[in-house]
Formats: sequence, structure tokens, C-alpha cells
Amino acid sequence: MGVLGKCGATKRDGTPCSLPAQGSNGLCWAHDPANADVRRKGASKGGRSKPGSELAQLKKKLITLGDDVLSGSVDKGKASVAAQCYGVAIRAVEAETKNRELEESRIVETQLRVQEQTELIGRLEAIEAAQEAQAAEKPSMGGGRWGE
Ligand SMILES: [Zn+2]
Repeated sequence: MGVLGKCGATKRDGTPCSLPAQGSNGLCWAHDPANADVRRKGASKGGRSKPGSELAQLKKKLITLGDDVLSGSVDKGKASVAAQCYGVAIRAVEAETKNRELEESRIVETQLRVQEQTELIGRLEAIEAAQEAQAAEKPSMGGGRWGE
């Protein structure tokens, strides 16, 4: 049967990678540097806008606003409207962060699932090949008929 080359890379635990190699570099999709590049790009996309610093800014504004209200330098009515606006902004940033985290965890999950499936398929094929080899060997072993 057509033996697809196994990936030449080593897994993180030190065992050789069991995924079939793809392309000309003898590596599976998971170890292909081209894919690693794609993954890195995908991961860094989430870090472009910094929700942490946005939240920090909003927090600072809220603290200042609170101080101003207490010191009497800001009208209470205006401060309350401003606080509401900041509150909405904070919730928007939080929702954005949650969505991004969800998306990223989904990407990782999918990658893991694909890797698992590829590995399982490889194992199934190996078992099938072993069964076929056994089935082919049995008749030539002399058959059980003579054993009686
Ligand atoms: Zn690999």
C-alpha cells in the first residue's frame, strides 16, 4: 500500500510525530513552518487592539470623575451621565474581549480536533493494514483443519 511518509518532526513530549507528512518538506500540517506562521498571525491578530489599556483608561477616567464629583468641581448630573457613558464603554470592551477569547479558544479546539482525527485515522489505517496482512497470512499458515 502507498506508504505516506511520516512527519519528520518530534512532538512536544519528545516522541516522534505520528501524523502523515504533507507536501515536500516531509512534515505534517501541524509541524509545517508555513502553518506555524499562519497560526502565529492568527494569534497576534487578537493582540492588536489592547482591551486591557482601554479598560485602564476608562477606569482612570471614572476615578477622576469620582474625585471631581466629591470635590465639587463637576456637576453631579453631568458626572452621572458621563459615568453611564463610561460604563457602557467598559461593557463594550469587555464583550469584545470575551468574543475574542471565545474565537481564539475555538480555533485552538478545532486544530486539536483535526490533529486528533488525523492521528486516529492513521491508527485505524495501521490496524486495517495489520488485519489485512493477517488475513492474507492465515491460509498460507497451513489452516486449522490439520490441527484436529
Ligand atoms: Zn508532525
